[in-house]
Amino acid sequence: MELWVTEYQTPALGFSCKVTQTLRARRTRFQHLAVVETEQFGRMLLLDGMVQTTEQDEWVYHEMISLVALNAHPHPEQVLIIGGGDGGTLREVVGHPGVKRGVLVEIDEEVVQASRDFFPELCCAFSHPKAELIIRDGTEYVKENQACFDIVIVDSTEPVGPAVKLFSPEFYRDVYSSLKEDGMLVVQSESPFFNADVIKMAYQGIKQSFPITELYLASIPTYPSGLWSFTIGSKRYNPVCPVSSHHQGCKYYNPQVHEAAFRLPGFVRRIIED
Ligand code: SAM
Repeated sequence: MELWVTEYQTPALGFSCKVTQTLRARRTRFQHLAVVETEQFGRMLLLDGMVQTTEQDEWVYHEMISLVALNAHPHPEQVLIIGGGDGGTLREVVGHPGVKRGVLVEIDEEVVQASRDFFPELCCAFSHPKAELIIRDGTEYVKENQACFDIVIVDSTEPVGPAVKLFSPEFYRDVYSSLKEDGMLVVQSESPFFNADVIKMAYQGIKQSFPITELYLASIPTYPSGLWSFTIGSKRYNPVCPVSSHHQGCKYYNPQVHEAAFRLPGFVRRIIED
C-alpha cells in the first residue's frame, strides 16, 4: 500500500509526497506536529499539515533567511531568531564569523525535540558555543529586550495560531525597539503567487516602523508555488548591497545571488507598491 502526505497549499491545490515512514505524529500544546520520511525530499517536518522543512531543500530557506542580513550588516554580532525551532536558521547564524551570540526563542519545545530526534543536520546548532535556546513566546521576549540586537530574524510559521502576532505592526514596532540604532529585521513573508495579502501585511507593517524596507525572493521547491519571499526592515544600512561575503559551505547563497534576489518581477513589485 502506498502512503502519501498532502499539504493543501490552497483550497484547490495539494502538494503530495510519497511517504515511506511516519516517524512522529502528535498534537503539541500549540500545533499538530509530524515528521515523515519521504521518498523525494528525505525527512520532512510538518506543522498543522504545512511543510516547514525537508532534508533535501532546507538549505535554500535557511541560507537565504540568514545570510542576506548577516552579510549586509557591517557588524552582525548579536542576533535574535524568533521561531525557527528546527535549528536550521540558528546553524547559519552561529556559522557566520561576525556573529558573537545567536539567541533562538521558540514557543514550542516539541519542535526543538523533533529536530534533535530526526534532523541531525539542523539540530547541531543547539550545542554550538555561540547559541542560546529559550522556550518562550517571541512577542514577549522582544518587549523585554530593548536596543540589544544587531539583527532579528523572524523564522515563523504561516500567520495562524501563535504566529499571527508575528505579522502585526505592533510586533514590528517592538522588534524595532529591540534592535540597536543600526539594526535590521528580516521575516519570511510567504509566496507571491498565493499569499500576496501576507506580503502586503508584512511589507506595510515593517514600513510603518523602518526607514528602509525591501523584499527579496528565493526558489524553494517544497514551499507553496516554489517561489518564496522575505522582507527586510533596516534602520540604516542598505540590505541590497552585501558588505561582507561569507558563503562558505553554502549551496544557494552567494554575493551575486544576494543582489539578484532583490530584482523583482513586475507582479511582485506591484504587490508591494499597491
Ligand atoms: N521555515 C518555516 C516555514 O516558513 O515554514 C518556519 C520553520 S520554524 C519550524 C517556525 C516556528 O515558529 C515553529 O516551530 C513555531 O512553533 C514557531 N512559532 C510560532 N509562533 C511563535 C511565537 N509567537 N514565538 C516563538 N516561536 C513561534
